[in-house]
Amino acid sequence: MSKKVYTVPWVDDVHFSILYDEHLHQETSPFQTIDFYKSETFGTFFTLDGLMMVNEKDEFIYHDMITHVAFAVNPKIENVLIIGGGDGGTAREVSRYSHVKQIDMVEIDERVVRLSQKYLPITAEKLDQDARINLYFEDGLAYVKNKAAKSYDLILVDSTDPIGPGEGLFTKDFYDNCARALTDDGILINQHESPYFESYAHEMKRAYQKIKSTFPIQAVYQFHQPTYPSGHWLFGFASKKYHPLQDHKPEAWEAFNLKTKYYNSDLHKGCFMLPTYVKEALENE
Ligand code: SAM
Repeated sequence: MSKKVYTVPWVDDVHFSILYDEHLHQETSPFQTIDFYKSETFGTFFTLDGLMMVNEKDEFIYHDMITHVAFAVNPKIENVLIIGGGDGGTAREVSRYSHVKQIDMVEIDERVVRLSQKYLPITAEKLDQDARINLYFEDGLAYVKNKAAKSYDLILVDSTDPIGPGEGLFTKDFYDNCARALTDDGILINQHESPYFESYAHEMKRAYQKIKSTFPIQAVYQFHQPTYPSGHWLFGFASKKYHPLQDHKPEAWEAFNLKTKYYNSDLHKGCFMLPTYVKEALENE
């Protein structure tokens, strides 16, 4: 059977394409269009409004890096909030820490969760298997606004880009409410876009400045995500107390004995060492 083409513009004149064997599912929810495909190289993958979200081949990179950096800085994290993350991969990684007591996941679109449970068990299987995971289907901005102060040790913002439903998750109002909902030694990790293509770098800089005006300690770390625009992607690290390098506790993290395919203690140090053009882009506002 001839293969069909999934293609997405990274920027107007740069497109990324995958030949797929099967278009498993398509539907439009109240929030976005959801498509699931199956391909030889990337396995099952899904897109939201045509943008690559998660695939079986490189999901381990994103989910390792959004989760383990914070636990290697504060190994005592017990109460975790995940904003977005409907595919379940971030909740899966957090659930590997047996001392974690509570994992609240606030996903705006229930259909992303239910379809991921059907087509992407590699990331979604834990969502209804771990009693510590509480699913809330609502807007993350509204959720943190209504949340009591000092409720969480860690907030992981596993969101889409700052367009459509994800826009509110890149606002000063959102970051302020995250700071309020975090304990005094709380850590915020957020999807921080990319420095390479101008349109993504613009959002990267805007988020950086807003977080900088909200948290006393803030840094950005990088990872290689092959199926995201340019493959060079970032997470933000923000905290009221902990510095990601000065408070790095590799021995304590190693003692968890977690096998990880991407994250390790050396990479923890390296991922905060940003290229010159990225440092300059972030600092020269
Ligand atoms: N790794 C992906 C990325 O970097 O683009 C994100 C994966 S995850 C599937 C993103 C999730 O954020 C989606 O399921 C989407 O529905 C959810 N989302 C978007 N806006 C949201 C909001 N305001 N509140 C809660 N969840 C939201």
